[in-house]
Amino acid sequence: MMWRGKINKIRTIGMLMIFLGFVIMYVALLFQKIPVLMYIVMMLGFLSVLGSVGVYFWVGLLSTKSVQVKCPRCERVTKVLGSTDECSFCGTTLSFDSKYAKEKSQNEEKSDPS
Ligand SMILES: [Zn+2]
Repeated sequence: MMWRGKINKIRTIGMLMIFLGFVIMYVALLFQKIPVLMYIVMMLGFLSVLGSVGVYFWVGLLSTKSVQVKCPRCERVTKVLGSTDECSFCGTTLSFDSKYAKEKSQNEEKSDPS
């Protein structure tokens, strides 16, 4: 798997859905002699593109919930979703309890000047 980490995986699915949607809509043009079939296939392609927009929106929501953690193996900062996720650079499984995440967010609140 080229893409690691939950957020990257979902983003890849979204990208594939857009690609698939355009392929389906292109295929629909081959059915120009059968308008009903062309319309149905075109709608499927359109729904796939629409779905991918939903997936991207969902990823946006998820990344606000993710926590930035420095990977112990490659020492790069990666986004971690949930209590266990993979490093997006080296694929190392990173796990930490929710207590750590809570402490981190509290520290961030303290450092907030407002
Ligand atoms: Zn890493």
